[in-house]
Amino acid sequence: MRKILPFLLILVIVSAGVLIYQRHSPEAKRFERHEALVKDAKERLDAGEWIGAERDVRELLKEMPDDTNLQVHLAGILYEQGRYEDCIAWVDGRSFRNADLDFLEKKSKSILYEMRALNLEDSRHFRVEFEGEMERTDVVEALSVLETAYDSLARLFDFYPENKIHLVLYRSAEYQGVGEHPDWAAAIFDGKLRMPVNAMRFREWYRPILFHELTHAFIQAIKWKDVPLWLNEGIAQVIDGSRIHDPRPRGAVPSVELLTEPFVREKNISGAEKLYWYSLRMTQELLRADPSFVKLRDLLRSLSGGNTDSRLRELYGVDSAELLRRAADSGRDSLFH
Ligand SMILES: [Zn+2]
Repeated sequence: MRKILPFLLILVIVSAGVLIYQRHSPEAKRFERHEALVKDAKERLDAGEWIGAERDVRELLKEMPDDTNLQVHLAGILYEQGRYEDCIAWVDGRSFRNADLDFLEKKSKSILYEMRALNLEDSRHFRVEFEGEMERTDVVEALSVLETAYDSLARLFDFYPENKIHLVLYRSAEYQGVGEHPDWAAAIFDGKLRMPVNAMRFREWYRPILFHELTHAFIQAIKWKDVPLWLNEGIAQVIDGSRIHDPRPRGAVPSVELLTEPFVREKNISGAEKLYWYSLRMTQELLRADPSFVKLRDLLRSLSGGNTDSRLRELYGVDSAELLRRAADSGRDSLFH
């Protein structure tokens, strides 16, 4: 026993030393850094945060210059930023080809061709991509309305996005008829602003939708993740002003958790409408506490990893549960007045 004990002790000390060395060795640190970079790149790609994604992927390419997957990703990131010449040049410089690279090169070339045919440069704040045939007057009309909306949002938030906003214009046969009322879901923001260009003629109808979707683009540029859904949709609805007078939906008040998750999970329309209603009212209550959009911008910027309530308390003296309670109360009032 006496002989074994010191031996065991040495064994424990040596293996602890090995463990500590492994955890702090240059290889372990490199591995950790690599893993963190991969995770960050993946998140930014998913969120359409292209500038950060490009930085990450270029960094990873320094470690693994021959990784074909990374090379394809970089081509895609350049394309998504509307840097079509850069994308073509990058694809050209590869020592391999695959279907993805072929697609990105072909698409980049056709967009460049269309822009030249329309005699159109990107506008001041938007990078434009076309789907289908375009008429120059439609495109110019769409861009002029968007630029106006952009200016008012930039002034309101005192914020000028670093990236150009990527705009996909498409021509849809649905909106050809004069006086027809186009579908609500015509424009969306999914990292790109997608709009049917010929629906722009319905100005009265279109303006709020445009402001709504562009607000999402601004919010993403201010903070590309960690913004709770109620705040994102609430701000967009305050800006578009279209549902301000909607009555309180029937049924129970939804939970804060439900209002934080993406609303698309809500299966039926009335369920989703309820979440939109509460989002708007909660955000209105927040603006009642302080009407500054610059402060709202600072709140958005400081959100990270589910710290919404602590940031709300610090900046506004409320949390989301309290905002929800006030929202429910405000709706109760409006039923009687
Ligand atoms: Zn929205």
